[in-house]
Amino acid sequence: MTDTPQYKRVLLKLSGEALMGELDYGIDPKMVSRIAREIKTVQELGVQVCLVVGAGNIFRGMTGVASGFDRTSADHMGMLATVMNSIAIQNALEQEGVDTRVQSAFPIASVCEPYIRRKAIRHMEKGRVVVFAAGTGNPFFTTDTAAALRAAEMGCDGLLKGTQVDGVYTADPKTDPTAEKYDRLDYHTVLTKDLKVLDASAIALARENDIPIVVFSIHKHGEFARVMCGSGEFTIICK
Ligand code: UDP
Repeated sequence: MTDTPQYKRVLLKLSGEALMGELDYGIDPKMVSRIAREIKTVQELGVQVCLVVGAGNIFRGMTGVASGFDRTSADHMGMLATVMNSIAIQNALEQEGVDTRVQSAFPIASVCEPYIRRKAIRHMEKGRVVVFAAGTGNPFFTTDTAAALRAAEMGCDGLLKGTQVDGVYTADPKTDPTAEKYDRLDYHTVLTKDLKVLDASAIALARENDIPIVVFSIHKHGEFARVMCGSGEFTIICK
């Protein structure tokens, strides 16, 4: 592997579950620290990094709806939960010595900055990691869509999806031993085969803006950095 990164600025999308570690619910500080170290290594390669994190480890709107909340209230709770995860990541990154700013899609002035596109870009240019909290700020959306949206706004040359497995498979590799990994896919195939990578709206947004989506395992040590340099195990989704 060369250690020359192939990307200048990337957005890393993590689902809330990535922060859960061995727990059944919530945030595992050890896991968050491990992820922070993965991000730090990539930053040290000279790649500008921003992040969007979900909240499946705390609260998902649709789960709230199933237990009787109205959709908008439940989605507001889900978005607030992403703020908690974002602060946890900021804390872990700063413990690793990485300056980090959280920007929320809706204002929570005494907790973090509001989302301001130009300011976010400036932070990254200064070597800070930016964590985009509160999704898109709107109910009826997901953090996948927020990730594709922010990646487009930030002019990212890659949307990285850190998952539990090392790419996109024909079936769930945890339950189906015949599942095969795709090395490369086009957006159209992902949409028509309804492959569960990111939401369809996120894929469509990435396609419109020609942003490659790279799916890799966030749990493999050093893999984020390897993927940035074009090695490691991953699936790339592009034109
Ligand atoms: N959410 C929302 N609007 C957004 C992003 C997220 O309403 O733009 C809410 C929605 O309720 C969602 C929750 O926040 O279920 C957590 O996000 P997501 O389900 O995408 O988290 P992940 O599955 O990535 O952990």
